[in-house]
Amino acid sequence: MDDAIRALAALLRPATRILVFTGAGMSTESGIPDFRSPGGVWDRYPIVYFDEFLRDEEARKRYWLRSRETYPVLARAEPNPAHYAIAELERRGKVLAVVTQNIDGLHARAGTSPDKLIELHGNNLHVVCLDCNARTPREAIQAELVAGVEVPRCARCGGLLKNTTVSFGEPLPAEALQRATLAALTCDLCLVIGSSLVVYPAADIPVLAAQQGAPLAIVNATPTPLDATADLVVHARAGAVLPAAVAALD
Ligand code: NAD
Ligand code: ZN
Repeated sequence: MDDAIRALAALLRPATRILVFTGAGMSTESGIPDFRSPGGVWDRYPIVYFDEFLRDEEARKRYWLRSRETYPVLARAEPNPAHYAIAELERRGKVLAVVTQNIDGLHARAGTSPDKLIELHGNNLHVVCLDCNARTPREAIQAELVAGVEVPRCARCGGLLKNTTVSFGEPLPAEALQRATLAALTCDLCLVIGSSLVVYPAADIPVLAAQQGAPLAIVNATPTPLDATADLVVHARAGAVLPAAVAALD
C-alpha cells in the first residue's frame, strides 16, 4: 500500500491540470452505497427510465416512491476524507476539473469550487418543473412525499416535477458534457476514483483524456475495463489512499 501511495504522489506532484473523475465509490465511505453492491437502497426499487416517466403516471409514482426512500440516505451523508483530499488538491492549484457521476453534492460540500465542479448526472438538491423550469429545493418536496403526495406537481403551473438528476435514458446536460470534454482534452493527469467505468457516456471522459496523452491513474476497489491501459492502478478504498497521497506531496 505504501508503494501505491508513493506512486500516486509521484504522478500528482508534477501535475497542474488534473482531471479528477469520480463515481459512486467516492461516496460509499460517506454511507451512500454504490449501484453495483447487492442489497443496497438502489436495489429495492426498480429504475424508472426517462421516457416512462414522461408518458406514464404509474411510472411517475414508482419514480417518486424510489426517490422518497433514497433521498434521506443522500441528504444525511457527509463528505469523507477522500472528498476533502480532492478539495486540498484544488487549494494547491493542481485541479483543472472535478468531473463526477455522483448526484450527492458532496464534492461541493467538501470545498470543491463551482467553477471546477462538473456534475454529469446533475444533483439531488433541487427539483425542476419540466414545463416552466421553476426550481424548488428537493427538501421541500420530501415533506410533500412523506405527507402522502404520490406525484408532486409544480406550485406555479401544475407541470411535471423531476429531480435535477439525469435519469437512465435521459441525455446528459450539454453544458456539463462540453466542459468535461474540454477538460479531458487539456488535462495533464486523469485521476479516476471509485468508478466502475462501465456507465457511458460518462466513461468516455477518462478514455478521451488517456487518448490525448494524459497519464491515467485509477483508484478503485475492484478492476475496471481501463485498468490495462492505465499508468497506475490502485485497488483500494479511496479514503485509504487519497488523503495519504496528498499528504505525501509535502
Ligand atoms: P458504480 O456503482 O458502477 O461503481 C462504483 C465503483 O466504486 C465500483 O467499481 C466499486 O468497486 C468501487 N468502490 C466502492 N467503494 C469504494 C471505495 N471506498 N473506494 C474506491 N472504490 C470503491 O458507480 P459509477 O461507475 O459511479 O456508476 C453508477 C451510477 O450511479 C452513476 O451514474 C451515478 O450517477 C449513480 N450513483 C450515484 C451515487 C451517488 O451520488 N453517491 C450513488 C450510487 C449511484
Ligand atoms: Zn411549472
